[in-house]
Amino acid sequence: MSTRDVIEKLEKAFPADQVLFKGVEAYEERNNSYLSQLESDITPRVIFLPKSTKEVSEFLKIIKPCVGDGARFAIRGAGQQPLPGCANIQDEITLDLALLSGIQVSKGGVSIAAGERWGAVYNELSKDGLGVTGARSGNNGIGGLALSGGLSFFGSREGFVCDNVVNYEVVLASGDIVNANAKENPDLFKALRGGGNNFGVVTKFDMRTFTQGPFWGGAVFYFADQFPTQVEALVNEVTRPNASEETHIMISLFFAEELAKGMGLNQALGLNQAYYTQEVEKPPVLEPFVAMQPQIEQLNSMRMITLKGAAEEQAAMARTGVRCAYMNTTVKPDVATLKAASELFSAALEKVKDLEGIVYSLTMQPYPASLLKKTDELGGNVLGLESATGSLISFLFLMYWKNRSDDQVILKTTQELLDQIDTDAAARGTAVPYKYLNYAFTGQDPIGSYGAENKEFLQRVSEKYDPEGLFQKAVPGGFKLFT
Ligand SMILES: Cc1cc2nc3c(=O)[nH]c(=O)nc-3n(C[C@H](O)[C@H](O)[C@H](O)COP(=O)(O)OP(=O)(O)OC[C@H]3O[C@@H](n4cnc5c(N)ncnc54)[C@H](O)[C@@H]3O)c2cc1C
Repeated sequence: MSTRDVIEKLEKAFPADQVLFKGVEAYEERNNSYLSQLESDITPRVIFLPKSTKEVSEFLKIIKPCVGDGARFAIRGAGQQPLPGCANIQDEITLDLALLSGIQVSKGGVSIAAGERWGAVYNELSKDGLGVTGARSGNNGIGGLALSGGLSFFGSREGFVCDNVVNYEVVLASGDIVNANAKENPDLFKALRGGGNNFGVVTKFDMRTFTQGPFWGGAVFYFADQFPTQVEALVNEVTRPNASEETHIMISLFFAEELAKGMGLNQALGLNQAYYTQEVEKPPVLEPFVAMQPQIEQLNSMRMITLKGAAEEQAAMARTGVRCAYMNTTVKPDVATLKAASELFSAALEKVKDLEGIVYSLTMQPYPASLLKKTDELGGNVLGLESATGSLISFLFLMYWKNRSDDQVILKTTQELLDQIDTDAAARGTAVPYKYLNYAFTGQDPIGSYGAENKEFLQRVSEKYDPEGLFQKAVPGGFKLFT
């Protein structure tokens, strides 16, 4: 029994609009709706769209007996992680969760079906003056974040996105539907907080909510010669004792062909995205990140903003239908390390600056000590960061480009850049093994970066809940546990 048999069974059991074949308009529309063209270049034989948790269970029961004969599948949330093959699969079956819908707000929490996007969640919560830790972009899916860590506007105060999940509804390899929370299946609960798509198909995420009014924030653009001063300000802010738990700051160095052509800014620019998550206008703590001069005044968007508005602004910054990739690493908050990284980035930029459609950026975002401390308070995860003795800085390398013929040069350039930065940080004693799964690319090892103990724990949990290794063998995309 092979993939073909699985597809025949799906066709018999479900209507045609849930089993989409290549060439059908709805198939093309779904397959072209990934964030990155690298994912859309992959063409599954069939896209299956379950409408309920029960249908996910039926799917797993159909495919399970065929795995030995080679049947494979991918699990897709919103398709916003640009890692090729993490949520799509060539010539096999993509289990697309888009039709699992529903957002229920209850006292202190919100229950979110796996096919929703954060923007819709924020819309619902804003009616009651509530917030939740979710993606900064409203267009992002739930699963990619809530199974991998997850950074939000409120991270400094509320912790990682995954640490704010209080219950996962999961369909296991057996087809059984279980809850994973602090009381029921607590080992699975912990494993899902960072373990990605390795344990089951999560159909619902129950998350804690908090009161959240409008807050101050936005973006500021400036010239790259001021970036070293911004690095100093960032390190100063995240390393000072009693750093504010209301700030969320990302500083980036980037080049965008569009700005180079449109505004004649043919150079790398600085971009700060800075937020203070209380209703306080122009909070002094953000001044070093927003008041630099000169800046590109017409692009300054600092203002009082709602969660919904902030997430819409972030979504608008993303491109669609173009080639996109992320890579990442982590370091200690050391000025010399950050400055060296930005110099290495500037050198790498010269190699890719002329590629058509290029956006090339290095974003430095803190993992403040207060965020890391929350992990224990909220029940633990597998990221291996709780023992960090202070804040950390994540480096995200984000790239967009137009042509497939440029894939190799841009990916190789950035892989080399990453190696140089890791080597430099290691020499300075400021390297940190952790790699964020959600921002990782082929060749990186986020699961290994959680540390041997956490990896072994994840392997044990997998053997317990998925003894035949369905999610290891039959779901090859993403980052696996036994490699
Ligand atoms: C503009 C922009 C802003 C962003 N902002 C943030 C941010 O603020 N914070 C942050 O942390 N990241 C951010 N990201 C990264 C982005 O949120 C992620 O890449 C995220 O993974 C997207 O989730 P998704 O559900 O769409 O993932 P998909 O691409 O659908 O899937 C990603 C992985 O998760 C697995 N998966 C997804 N859903 C499930 C499920 N229900 N059950 C089992 N496995 C599942 C898939 O198999 C796949 O391996 C941003 C990205 C962009 C483009």
